[in-house]
Amino acid sequence: MIHLKNKLIIAIDGPSGAGKSTLSKALASQLDYLNIDTGAMYRSVALLAQQRRINPHDESALKALCADLSIEFIRRESSERVLVNDVDVSAAIRTPEVSLLTAQVAASPAVREAMLHLQRKMGEAGGVVLEGRDIGTVVFPRADVKFFLSATAVERGRRRFEELQAQGITVDLQQTIAEVEARDAADTARTLAPLMQADDALVVDSTQLSIEEVLNKMLKIVKDKEAGLAE
Ligand code: C5P
Repeated sequence: MIHLKNKLIIAIDGPSGAGKSTLSKALASQLDYLNIDTGAMYRSVALLAQQRRINPHDESALKALCADLSIEFIRRESSERVLVNDVDVSAAIRTPEVSLLTAQVAASPAVREAMLHLQRKMGEAGGVVLEGRDIGTVVFPRADVKFFLSATAVERGRRRFEELQAQGITVDLQQTIAEVEARDAADTARTLAPLMQADDALVVDSTQLSIEEVLNKMLKIVKDKEAGLAE
């Protein structure tokens, strides 16, 4: 890929709750790269579909929705915000209802095509960390560094449960684990751009590791890659 001053394209894929969001934010911040949360983009489409009462199987309505959509990532008071059509939807896209609807909306060919186009436009110049399910396989198959983060479903469900609780959302632990598993199944089984590990991705299992440990591991790999490109 063509880069300016070693501004790499870093792909982070993996199932929900594997630590992708936390780690890609931290990695992007350490490298002074732009962090692109592609899950937030699919969530934004789902939120709008919910608000407009669009059936997740109605391809033409979803296509029209995407044609008239602006998604922006901004940093405000050290937190990352998602603006959809200039409205801050950062909290609204994280509810369990929107999470479930997102997996359905993300299976739509019209939605995937629109998001693919947006993500490539946002990331092609490099200096980006993109996190999602299909970054290393479909969006940027020639990304400079590809990570695949994993952790057991129970551990991922537990993390999601704590995250939701911290946001004041009351949920049940077993139900959260079941929802994580249901989302994994939907993301893995879909025909279009399923959740899949790229052959050349570096697998990092975070079940037993702290965020710092995983981050240091990832940073070292990226720095080695940067150094290799500079030679
Ligand atoms: O990463 P996050 O859990 O926020 O993603 C929400 C949903 O968006 C996933 O369950 C998946 O259905 C969808 N998604 C996707 N492709 C991506 C990122 C997310 O299909 N690259």
